[in-house]
Amino acid sequence: MPDCGAPSPSSIECRQIADLLGDYLDGSLPKATRELLEWHIEGCGPCVAFVNTYRGTVNAATKLKEVEIPSELKQRLLSVLRNQRATHRPSA
Ligand SMILES: [Zn+2]
Repeated sequence: MPDCGAPSPSSIECRQIADLLGDYLDGSLPKATRELLEWHIEGCGPCVAFVNTYRGTVNAATKLKEVEIPSELKQRLLSVLRNQRATHRPSA
């Protein structure tokens, strides 16, 4: 089963990665949450691909303009990446 969301209250589920990644890359995520996210990603192939995609997108956007990415753009990226996530996990 590719379900990497452990049924523990301290675990992070894949779908939460999308919500947290922006803050994570910002460095604005609390240390505990950051470590949880990293821990999850290390053991989750789909999330690794997701992070790489997100990082690539952010880096590309950062190169265009050397300023912090507006939250509106970040929200757009998140929704785009969410859609990509939805497609890279084929429905049974
Ligand atoms: Zn995951």
